[in-house]
Amino acid sequence: MNMKNLFLAVLGGITLLCSSCVQQQMQQIAYNSKVVVLDIGHYFEPTRGGQGARTPDARHGGIIEETEFWYRYAGEVKKTIEAAGYTCLICNRGDMPRDARLAEAARRAGVHHVKSPQPTAIYRSTHHPHRIAVGMLSTNYALDQQPGAVVYLHHNSNSETWRVFNKGAFYCNERGVRLAQTMAQVMSRDILDNPDKGMPNHGVPCGVVLRTDGRRGGGDWLNACNESFVPAVITEVAFLSNPEHARYLSSHENAVKFAQAIGRGVVEYMNAR
Ligand SMILES: [Zn+2]
Repeated sequence: MNMKNLFLAVLGGITLLCSSCVQQQMQQIAYNSKVVVLDIGHYFEPTRGGQGARTPDARHGGIIEETEFWYRYAGEVKKTIEAAGYTCLICNRGDMPRDARLAEAARRAGVHHVKSPQPTAIYRSTHHPHRIAVGMLSTNYALDQQPGAVVYLHHNSNSETWRVFNKGAFYCNERGVRLAQTMAQVMSRDILDNPDKGMPNHGVPCGVVLRTDGRRGGGDWLNACNESFVPAVITEVAFLSNPEHARYLSSHENAVKFAQAIGRGVVEYMNAR
């Protein structure tokens, strides 16, 4: 080996070592972090309201829309997490809702509005620039906080009309498999089919779906978190097109219970790390 090649080999070795140092450091930061970031899914549009999934009509307890639901109840998730000694921050990709009651709920919960210039446009991850997605500005905010976990608060819907469907799940990145498993256990134990006023689910437990493909919904938020070694989960447990789920969540008392179970799942995971 001549001197030039030796020099290049040493340089290459140092570069490799450094990048593994940086990776180890990032892993340690996520592992030691006591911060949890919640993202309220989608955004509130001034005239049309929440832009997430919604119930087909008001027949089963009124209209529920997922963004508006989580504006009302993300604060309950946060309270549960903070009562266990962690810091919990909530964000949303859009601007403060125009609806006075939702705005008040947002203020009480301390929601940070990222104010994406166009909430429906695709943005790049500042932390991992090859990752792009609608809603990425929330993920940028989340990763800026050096969190130990990120939870994207959503509900699902799989039909334009009412239909009983029970395969709800937590979608997660590779780092978030244990987080999702713990959250699913808590959801199955405390909410789904729980004899004490639980949400009817026909004996189907809560699922866990590993999602690594950025082309599918939310994939690149999960990928960007994964590349910062941050466990991340999208909650898609309840279906707003399922009349039984809609009826359940239309009760304030049940909605609080549901939100607290999300928080408890996060806490049980954080405590067990
Ligand atoms: Zn959603």
